[in-house]
Amino acid sequence: MPERPEQSAAGRFDTVLIANRGEIAARIQRACRELGLKTVAICSEADRHAPYGKTADSFLCIGPSTAAKSYLNQDAILLAARLAGAGAVHPGYGFLSENAAFSDAVEKAGLTFIGPTASSIATMGDKISAKRAMIAAGVPCVPGPDTALPDDPATIEHIALEIGYPVIIKATGGGGGRGMRVVPKADVLHEAIALTREEARKAFGSPSLYMEKFLQHPRHIEIQVICDDHGNAVWLGHRDCSMQRRHQKVVEEAPAPGIAPDIIQPVGLACVQACLQIGYRGVGTFEFLYEDGAFYFIEMNTRLQVEHPVTELTSGVDIVQAQIRAAQGHGLELNQGDVTCEGHSFECRINAEDPETFLPSAGVVTHLALPAGPGIRVDTHIHAGYKVSPYYDSLIAKLIVHAPTRAEAMTRMREALADTEVEGISTNIPFLRALFEDDAFSRGETDIHYLEQWLKLRRAA
Ligand code: ADP
Repeated sequence: MPERPEQSAAGRFDTVLIANRGEIAARIQRACRELGLKTVAICSEADRHAPYGKTADSFLCIGPSTAAKSYLNQDAILLAARLAGAGAVHPGYGFLSENAAFSDAVEKAGLTFIGPTASSIATMGDKISAKRAMIAAGVPCVPGPDTALPDDPATIEHIALEIGYPVIIKATGGGGGRGMRVVPKADVLHEAIALTREEARKAFGSPSLYMEKFLQHPRHIEIQVICDDHGNAVWLGHRDCSMQRRHQKVVEEAPAPGIAPDIIQPVGLACVQACLQIGYRGVGTFEFLYEDGAFYFIEMNTRLQVEHPVTELTSGVDIVQAQIRAAQGHGLELNQGDVTCEGHSFECRINAEDPETFLPSAGVVTHLALPAGPGIRVDTHIHAGYKVSPYYDSLIAKLIVHAPTRAEAMTRMREALADTEVEGISTNIPFLRALFEDDAFSRGETDIHYLEQWLKLRRAA
């Protein structure tokens, strides 16, 4: 008799349902297969011909093309898991990956959620409770109170004055770069609060806001952690994801250039401490702004991230396999002392979009040539003849390189980009090629605003 899901407690699942699509569905399936696990792929009607469906042990269509009716439909996913005999669900990134109710529903159905508990997701999903947990663990945070803004205008003015202008108003339940507003000076404070409150109420279902110092030229630096269920946690080094357009990362690298080990070391250890204090399990990322030699925590992502490969290539750890093993109840296979990060890695997100206007570009890929060679990795689900659907995120591939030094990794990426050909749809490859020729980027002298400014200058030229 097949094992019933009720019996598939941690450590005993042998079949994983991958509740996602695209490159990450392919990536997770590979990790499962290498661990000897069976896989269940799911799809919406638009993804019926996804290549990872053919290599999965089961492939089930769970709903129409609209994500709300398929990849976000919790009941349909749980039904598919039951029908296919899955003992665990891997949420990937996006979709339901940071949905505490989904983590709870998966566990209540007797399956293992490959990710943290619902309570960890909920704590970290609320920016104020996350900030409080970080302060308690000694993680440095952006100056500003760890409480929601009161209603009284005079008290709000006082808080802003204490922090010092410019300040940023953020929705407690915000995400995806939405629900925040910079306030340069006192006379626009109340208007900014009213607007952000209304946005937060509409977008996140809660009008709760908080205020912190607005940092003017920070870099985005993040720390990858992995934890087991036995009280062990390690950090796997750091990444720089400052190259952003509209708060969306475009290029990531590991390690973050020019950060002295004695500056980052205590921050990494504080992240580990925070994980232990909140009983975190699985993989997670602590995101920081870094300015004038200091780190300021902004949020924790309680899931696998798009940019995990740059850390895999520098640390030598297969993060997806480690995540699955932790969910199986296995202890971590490495101690902090075993973690060594070598060389330098870059990732380019290849998006199906116009390189000038950034408008999404759907259609059939008529020709595809991917680079290969030492230190080159491509994570993708597309092939010649693949139809890029307009329904989802425009990420079609991740091009990742690794080399002994940052300069060599940049050269390797330039060559890899030169060898990449995608025809039939537009992609951002021409834009990525130009970016890898940029001097300031080559020197590692960029902050989170650099890419937007660079684009503005290019348009003006
Ligand atoms: P989200 O959850 O919506 O992604 P974050 O808190 O991670 O929100 O912030 C998203 C981006 O907004 C950051 O990467 C940074 O570019 C900017 N940002 C957030 N907080 C600040 C701040 N205090 N000062 C300057 N920029 C900020």
